[in-house]
Amino acid sequence: IYGPPLLPPIPDDLTIPQFFLDSHHTTRPVRKHGTPWFIEDKTGRSFGFEEARWQFIRARTFGMANSLRLRFGIKEDDVVLIYSPNHIDYPVAIWATHRLGAIVSGANPMYTVEELLYQIETTKASIIITHPMSLDNALSAAKAAGVPQDRVLTFEDSPSKSLITVEQLILEGLAQEASFVERKLNPGEARTKVAFLNFSSGTTGKPKAVLISHYGPITNVIQTAVHMNVNQNYCAWEDQRFRPGDVGAGNIYGLVISIHFMIYSGMALVIIPRFSFVDFLKSVVSHKITHLMLVPPQIVLLCKHPAVKDFDLSHVRVLLSGAAPLSAELMNQLVKLFPKAQIGQGYGLTESSTSIAMLPPDQKIGVPGSVGRLLPGVVARIVKPDGSLAGFNEPGELTVKMSCMALGYFNNEKATRETFVDGWLRTGDEVIINDKGDVFIVDRLKEILKVRGFQVAPAELEGCLLDHPDVADTCVVSVPHDYSGEVPLAYVVLHADAAKRAEADPAEANRIKASIAKHVADNKVAYKRLEGGVEFTDIIPKNPSGKMLRRVLRDRAHKMRATK
Ligand code: AMP
Repeated sequence: IYGPPLLPPIPDDLTIPQFFLDSHHTTRPVRKHGTPWFIEDKTGRSFGFEEARWQFIRARTFGMANSLRLRFGIKEDDVVLIYSPNHIDYPVAIWATHRLGAIVSGANPMYTVEELLYQIETTKASIIITHPMSLDNALSAAKAAGVPQDRVLTFEDSPSKSLITVEQLILEGLAQEASFVERKLNPGEARTKVAFLNFSSGTTGKPKAVLISHYGPITNVIQTAVHMNVNQNYCAWEDQRFRPGDVGAGNIYGLVISIHFMIYSGMALVIIPRFSFVDFLKSVVSHKITHLMLVPPQIVLLCKHPAVKDFDLSHVRVLLSGAAPLSAELMNQLVKLFPKAQIGQGYGLTESSTSIAMLPPDQKIGVPGSVGRLLPGVVARIVKPDGSLAGFNEPGELTVKMSCMALGYFNNEKATRETFVDGWLRTGDEVIINDKGDVFIVDRLKEILKVRGFQVAPAELEGCLLDHPDVADTCVVSVPHDYSGEVPLAYVVLHADAAKRAEADPAEANRIKASIAKHVADNKVAYKRLEGGVEFTDIIPKNPSGKMLRRVLRDRAHKMRATK
């Protein structure tokens, strides 16, 4: 099944900053004079696009790149790890790294020391940019990984530690002659030159670093721009979903759509550092935000939180949900709440450099339960369990071919071969596409859970659980949750002595369960906690080759929940 074919030529000889900061691609709309690119929510400080201020962003990017080279010797293919909440200079740090031919790896700022250490070690990052909020963990993980303290930088001054700030580096770099020659690409090279190492567990196993090229996000932005009628050359002003001068709420995690697509469309992006729902509503109103890219739990809050009625949100024109399933029921509630807005879903994976399907341009409101239609340039094949191809309205695993696909997993041939097969990306999602082209996600075939939109890899939690002294074997499965979408539940086989104690005394059994749950809570970020609980079992069912029969336990957990 083919998405629309129309795609303008996509440059394959530009890096991300060259495309977004230096070029004027044909699909790019004209920015409205004076529209800032980024607005800092807390201070109202803005970085603009009017000619002088646009040069200002480019200058900051140059200053940062110059300092990264001069002070730290950052060069081709070095990895700069950014461990910070949203910050107005986050994009500058990304683009500066790219100007040097180096690679960015973004880490969740709530990660524990152990999780961050795993990312530093996997990517072999040689420098860490953090934020006062995440500084203690950053310093501990850097020390454990052998990254010297003077290679830990912060976006803002930290009261206790005298670390160098990004602002200092930018000014220092600007005060000196250029110490580097910007990395230029040969024709075609953007397709293979790595820009990001983002983390995803793929279809199975622990989180892996996904190799994302410069070409991937550039292509995905252009695909989305064409799909969304961004340019007035393609449709009338009133039909445009994203217009120059619109205002979006930017989330660094939505790297392609939230950051690059919105600035490409001429929108201003409000950078909101942390998500507290009522503060978020205040920001939406005070900045007159027109576009909201949300995850389903945020939509639950919009529909159910009592504070919502105190805010006039009538300026919100577009609401898009992504990262996890949005029920038809929630979608209908949202439509009632925002009767004039365009509302729908987007769907994609880290491995596809974001979007595969999205609310189509001719639908104001998406078909309930559907994630939209394929983007231009996407080819989809739906594969049934017996390997044959499904027709319209038949379920099967979605595999896609699109030019923005990731290049594979870093240093992991086996996982790469399993997920990227003969030029097709296996999504691990079971879907149905109807004869109109609407895509519906029916189920997830792969192991991961999406808790509040974040990936949780059962294999990672199982590794952590096996470190607990009472745990002999374990299998983590998903159970549904009203707010988070789904949460992890651990089936645990106890070592003999713990099993005896648990059997003899129910209070002791509860103590062991609590201690196991605490062990995960102590070592993992909040959304990975065993909110679904801990259940004891005599045996983890496995097939003859020793592979866990996760589905059997998942079905058991769902049945148990239903009868409770
Ligand atoms: P990530 O790589 O973290 O972006 O996760 C990608 C996975 O999130 C997909 O393979 C889907 O399982 C899930 N996902 C993303 N968007 C949606 C959506 N709109 N509806 C249902 N699941 C989604």
